[in-house]
Amino acid sequence: MSESFAPQWRKPGRLEALGPAFFTSLQPAPVPAPHWVATSTSTARWMQLSRDWLASDEALQVLSGNAVAAGSQPLASVYSGHQFGVWAGQLGDGRAILLGETEQGHEVQLKGAGRTPYSRMGDGRAVLRSSIREFLCSEAMAALGIPTTRALALIGSPLPVARESLETAAVVTRVAESFIRFGHFEHFAARDMQAELRTLADLVIDQHYPECRSAEALAGNAYANFLQAVSERTARLLAQWQAVGFCHGVMNTDNMSILGLTIDYGPFQFLDAFDPGHICNHSDSQGRYAFNRQPQIAYWNLYCLGQALLPLIGDEELTIAALESYKSVFPAAYAAQMLAKLGLPANAPDTEPTQGRFALLVNPLLQLLADNRVDYTIFFTRLTDAVAQAKEARPDFEPLRDIILDRAAFDAWSLTYSEQLAQVDKAQAVDLMQKSNPRFVLRNHLGETVIRAAQAGDFAPVQQMLAVLQAPYDPHPDHADWAGLPPDWASSIEISCSS
Ligand code: AMP
Ligand code: MG
Ligand code: MG
Repeated sequence: MSESFAPQWRKPGRLEALGPAFFTSLQPAPVPAPHWVATSTSTARWMQLSRDWLASDEALQVLSGNAVAAGSQPLASVYSGHQFGVWAGQLGDGRAILLGETEQGHEVQLKGAGRTPYSRMGDGRAVLRSSIREFLCSEAMAALGIPTTRALALIGSPLPVARESLETAAVVTRVAESFIRFGHFEHFAARDMQAELRTLADLVIDQHYPECRSAEALAGNAYANFLQAVSERTARLLAQWQAVGFCHGVMNTDNMSILGLTIDYGPFQFLDAFDPGHICNHSDSQGRYAFNRQPQIAYWNLYCLGQALLPLIGDEELTIAALESYKSVFPAAYAAQMLAKLGLPANAPDTEPTQGRFALLVNPLLQLLADNRVDYTIFFTRLTDAVAQAKEARPDFEPLRDIILDRAAFDAWSLTYSEQLAQVDKAQAVDLMQKSNPRFVLRNHLGETVIRAAQAGDFAPVQQMLAVLQAPYDPHPDHADWAGLPPDWASSIEISCSS
């Protein structure tokens, strides 16, 4: 398909085709004096959208919600969900407005473009601070190879927005193949709207999971196959989050993508020092969404999806069976990811089987990192460099010993590790490590640094950080400080749901 100048809207879009039970048509609310903060040409390329359009005044008007493009029929969709483990009833796109779906099949949303019928007590706006975090992290995750909604543009406005203090507004243009969440299914199931539930499931299966129609797997039941496919995608997503040290912070069922994408960048955090019980959301007093609970929570959320799909599957045992795959796919995917970080391919010939090597190397390492509060990202980049520089010899682990208090424990671990490493092809190990261990992740203090600059009117650092995060495995010597240990003030940053 060829590149288009402005987005070409498919009419009707998929969501629109579902009918009025699924959404409300409405217009974005304009913001005063919109200005560019940043754009992602990588997302434009992915969408087959012209970079020239993205730089145009028309784009500034359309993506700030100040003008509606020809052919776009904006809408907000309704969904429900479980928040912090409790049924919350109806939610919906409270501040996200879907502009439409492009001819290439990408849904385009403006986040922070004004109130909708689902805004409840909210003002329909997003502040510059949280919008910078969402914009940068969406693109960082994509570059890390982690499924995610994308960000195309970030636009600021002097419009005042009240949070804990007075801030200013911003609009993020988000793009995904679908923004449908578990909560969309829960919504129609809870209201016993079975026809709508089926219509929605059929659409998602036809558009995104067509293999579920033909697969024999679960008694030829397309809806059970669908649940199983979503469970597996979610399991692989969670394995990637855990391996890179990403804490989502608000894993409510309305923040779970039916495509297994990372969605809703709120109080998320990449771990600094490795702390398995880390809670990144200041509003999560119980630690429901602590880092090490994420895989279990994802399963809990899938169970809610299973409950919602039960009327379509028509059989409780089949529903349970469909969810079961999570329990094998997650550990296998996680083990493969963690071993890759150590340069050890999963199921390499002549080595311990994956689970054996995982128990031998990964569990003790994570314990060591936790006990010594070692910086998670820096540990793995130093390990990568040590192995890469070792040529044929045993790696020099001194740069790692420098960041670990309990050196005796590390020496014991590194001895076992060297023995395992000696069993695999050296060049392959280095290649695997260099592709699995990012040097740059969007740590809280890095986000904070560019946010402060942007709040003072300097947007260049946002675009510079975007460029670095879009190539997170490269060294970027000009920005070496962004790969360093967090400063002392980083631990005092408090990120809540307020955004
Ligand atoms: P979240 O915790 O970000 O998933 O948000 C939960 C719900 O609140 C979602 O349905 C959002 O659309 C809605 N929401 C969050 N912030 C706002 C806001 N400022 N205005 C309107 N709705 C909001
Ligand atoms: Mg949300
Ligand atoms: Mg949110």
